[in-house]
Amino acid sequence: MRLYFDNAASTPMFPEVIEVMSRTMRDYYGNPSSIHAHGRKAKAAIEEARKSIAYLLGCSVGEIFFTSGGTEANNMAIKSAILDLGIRRVITSPVEHPCVLRSIEHVAQQVSLRVEYLAVDEVGRVSPRDLESLLAEDSESKTMVSIMHANNEIGTMNDIIALGELCNGAKALFHCDTVQTVGHFPLQFSRIPVDLASGSAHKFHGPKGIGLLYMRNPGLQPLIDGGGQERNMRSGTENIAAILGMAKALEIFSSQRDAHVTKTRMIRDYALEQIRQRFPQVKVNGSCDDQSLYTVLSLTFPASLKADLLVFNLDIEGISASGGSACSSGVQKVSHVLKTISPDDTGTTVRFSFSPMNEKEEVDFLLLKLEKILNKQKETS
Ligand code: PLP
Repeated sequence: MRLYFDNAASTPMFPEVIEVMSRTMRDYYGNPSSIHAHGRKAKAAIEEARKSIAYLLGCSVGEIFFTSGGTEANNMAIKSAILDLGIRRVITSPVEHPCVLRSIEHVAQQVSLRVEYLAVDEVGRVSPRDLESLLAEDSESKTMVSIMHANNEIGTMNDIIALGELCNGAKALFHCDTVQTVGHFPLQFSRIPVDLASGSAHKFHGPKGIGLLYMRNPGLQPLIDGGGQERNMRSGTENIAAILGMAKALEIFSSQRDAHVTKTRMIRDYALEQIRQRFPQVKVNGSCDDQSLYTVLSLTFPASLKADLLVFNLDIEGISASGGSACSSGVQKVSHVLKTISPDDTGTTVRFSFSPMNEKEEVDFLLLKLEKILNKQKETS
């Protein structure tokens, strides 16, 4: 048996998504930029997918731009906004995804930019009051605020309505990394005060390598120049199968959201309760309340449990989980998120992340394996 508890890193595709993609690859091979019938058919399919995605995300078709994923969408939003709109001040947080933090650092080498980091509390959440004070300190500089909706490592969610309203009030641009929440929550972009937001299909049972940028007031310059696809915002021949796959995944997730959320939350909460009973010393990173991702359970096993090779040992026992952020998991380094919220922690952190494709019985298997690994390690210590 091989179990997958790493759904915040990537999710298995819905079977219907694979079917749509296979069909698309077979039948829609024309280049969408070609003016002949094959091209027009491919182009029409892309625009149908955009229409469906825009409808489900509560915005207009002109506000959705397809990208190669969340990383590109965040790079595009941040770099283009700063360079094209004359942004001179960026307010962000130290626990953002590396693609946000590195994009800001990169562009700060090109233009004169003041970067300010909001403090986060012990669960990794920024305080709207802190943002309000910071915004009030300087009402002159053109400002962009970039704060994530949900943290991929610990699941903590920010109050983006409150943050966005403060940005609106201060005439600051608000970019929100919504990669972990698009699909999972009923986001309706036209009803929330965000200017730029990102999404990535592989986080909601769609394919990898496809994502989107929501842009309220299109008008930025492209990062990628070429043939002028995506209304000149993102050149390059479109990945038609992935775009249609993303639309299908969003459609399925949206129509079954309540059931998916209920089931996944039940499994996550069961895992937490059982692990706490067996290993009371375990610490939860972030929180597991309704202000957090229902998919994520980030736990730190104290040094006394000798859990240092836990992710590795779980892997040997047939369980895939993550030791930190998936995007940097190839390289074992201390997570910037955990370092920020718990600088003195010496334990081992494991992130279990669940999906509706998991079953409660799988958690029982995980518990057996955890007891085997941790108790064995205790015996040999
Ligand atoms: N932002 C967040 C919060 C993420 O969790 C991830 C991926 O883990 C990304 C951005 C990057 O998305 P992608 O993998 O589609 O490039």
